[in-house]
Amino acid sequence: MSGDCLFCNIANGLLATEFLLETDQLVAFRDLHPVAPTHILVIPKRHITSLAHLEDTDVTLLGEMMLAIKELAEELGLEDGFRVVANTGADGGQSVHHLHFHLIGGRSLQWPPG
Ligand code: AMP
Repeated sequence: MSGDCLFCNIANGLLATEFLLETDQLVAFRDLHPVAPTHILVIPKRHITSLAHLEDTDVTLLGEMMLAIKELAEELGLEDGFRVVANTGADGGQSVHHLHFHLIGGRSLQWPPG
């Protein structure tokens, strides 16, 4: 854990953020600035800076994160579809440098993004 990392602090329960899901490896919570009726962030508890920093040993963690997203989408009624986004690095528009997947849905989403 990095004390300077916002999402490490959230994952460690230091910000009183309500979790929609928590396992040994990950937590999910609502985005502070939702861009759609449903906007959830799924993050690993362990600090990983971004998708670009994943290692071979993170395969199981990634699988668990994807299955968590699928389960959340089902629970939240996103049967008409949803989008999963991992902004990565400066050009990818990443603002919090702790790996996270955005789960976005609840309205018809446009493509391509800006
Ligand atoms: P990104 O720009 O892909 O790095 O996404 C970071 C996301 O974190 C943004 O959508 C922010 O709205 C969200 N965010 C920042 N601070 C918080 C917080 N304290 N609780 C929940 N979401 C947050």
